[in-house]
Parts: sequence; structure tokens; C-alpha cells
Amino acid sequence: MNKLSVNVGKTPLVQISKRIWAKFEGQNPSGSIKDRMASYILNDAEIKGLLKKGHTIIEATSGNSGIAFAFLGAERGYKVKIVMPCNMSEERKQMLKMYGAELIEVGAGDFDAAIKLRDEIASCKGYFNPRQFSNPLNIEAHYSGTGVEILHQHTEKIGAFVAGTGTGGTLMGTSRILKLYHPGMKTVAVEPAESPVMSGGELGPHGIQGIGDGSKFLVNLNEVDDIVIIKTEEAKDRARKLSKESGLFVGVSSGANVLGCEKLLEMYPDIEGNIITVLSDRGERYLSCM
Ligand code: PMP
Repeated sequence: MNKLSVNVGKTPLVQISKRIWAKFEGQNPSGSIKDRMASYILNDAEIKGLLKKGHTIIEATSGNSGIAFAFLGAERGYKVKIVMPCNMSEERKQMLKMYGAELIEVGAGDFDAAIKLRDEIASCKGYFNPRQFSNPLNIEAHYSGTGVEILHQHTEKIGAFVAGTGTGGTLMGTSRILKLYHPGMKTVAVEPAESPVMSGGELGPHGIQGIGDGSKFLVNLNEVDDIVIIKTEEAKDRARKLSKESGLFVGVSSGANVLGCEKLLEMYPDIEGNIITVLSDRGERYLSCM
């Protein structure tokens, strides 16, 4: 059967400015880059016989992974339970429910609590736990998906790959394969100024939903060449500008990523090659907070 999820990935690589290019991940079936990780992990579990129709999946998420699992669950006949901090956008919560998932909320910004509760419920009830914050398959999805696609779509030299990190799957998987073909390329993380934990700062509340979840998770800091810090308000402004001036209606973390590329070029104008990033999701799910 030709299910919608066969169309995950194969997203356009759009040019933002002379030297900046971005994968438009809002084109994925449930509207975000997280369809890649979720379908990759579920496909693997199905092949290994770990998941059968009627089983329940439980995951902790800032929203987009939950929406991705909820979409796939509805498509493939799994029940889906999502544990999420309560301060994520209303649109996210409504989308999860529209796909038929059950939402369990924990304290604002508390991803540790969400992960702990997910693990407790999964082991107590025997639910399938994709463990996106620690699962190497999350990295693999971007190594063999996002990264390979960029290599085919962009034939000029790549000087840096820039991405904000939630789980870190996008940054690690994509940059690892790009670096093999573009030696000397910089791997650059983006983090919220209000919660710069990878740069050694304090955890704090911020509004760049999807990144800066409080810990480095899958990110190996030895592979990160630079970290660019972006304020929530600057990220929102850049996202609005992308919509009005480039026709790219994207979410707040996409604004942070593009601004991260621009700041990187200001800091290192002599970087050889172009800068690649991702526009992680569409803007519709932020209307209530933009
Ligand atoms: N931006 C948004 C909007 C997201 O939902 C996520 C995933 N949490 C990311 C960026 C970061 O992706 P990753 O988990 O692969 O680091």
C-alpha cells in the first residue's frame, strides 16, 4: 500500500541568500523534520518484529516528534501517548489530538520530568519507547536521509552545517556525513541565549520551541566546532522576516537557524564554501505565540 509516510524526506533545498541554503522540512507529511526520525525508528522496530498493529508507543517531546509519531500511529494502527512540557504551543497540543494521540503534560520546560515519566510508564505497561533523546537511530536517520539528500542537492563546497539542537540528531547525523565529503567543514550548534547549557550557561525558560531542551543529549561536543547563541525575540523576528521577505512561513527554530548562519558569516567571513541549515517546521503551529 502506498502510505503517506513513504514521502518522508526528499525535501527542497532552498537558497536563502548568496551563501546560505536550507532544507525546507515543513514539507514532510506531518509538517516537520521529526518525521524522519520517527519513521526511521518505527520502520526499524517493525522490521525487527518489535512493533505490531495495536501496540502502544510512548514518547517524550517538545511537540514535533509527538506529532510525527501520532501521524505514523494513525497511519499504521498504533496507539500513541505523548509526554510533553505544558508550555508548548496550543497548536501542537491540538494537532496531537487530531491525530488521535493522548497527551500527558508535565511542568513547563521540564524535559527531564517528561523523559522520566515516559520511561516509567513504558516499562510498567510494556509500551514501545523510541527513546529519541538517546537512540543512535535518530542520528542515523539524518546521516542516511537529510545528509545524503544535501550531498545530492548541493554540488558546491560546503563550509558549515548549522542547526539548533533538541535531541541533537539533526546536527550530529547530518554533519557527520557532510564532513566526510567536505573535509574542514564546521559543525555549528545554535542554542537559545536564555538557556545556553552547551556553552556552559544556566538552564532557563526560552521560547525557541524544539531546541535547547536542557541537556546536550545526542550532541558530542568534541564534534562541534562552534556554538552560536540566539535570543528568542531575534529568532521570532527572523522567522517573521523569512515569511514576509522570502515566502518561507517557518517556525521559531528556523528563524534561529538562519540567523545563526548569518552570525557565523559575520564572525568568519572567510569560511570557504556555503552554509547549510534546516528550516525544521512550518509557521502555522506558532500562530498563538508569534
Ligand atoms: N526545531 C524544531 C521546531 C524541533 O521540533 C526540533 C526537534 N525537537 C528541532 C529543531 C531539533 O531537532 P533535533 O531533535 O534533531 O536536534
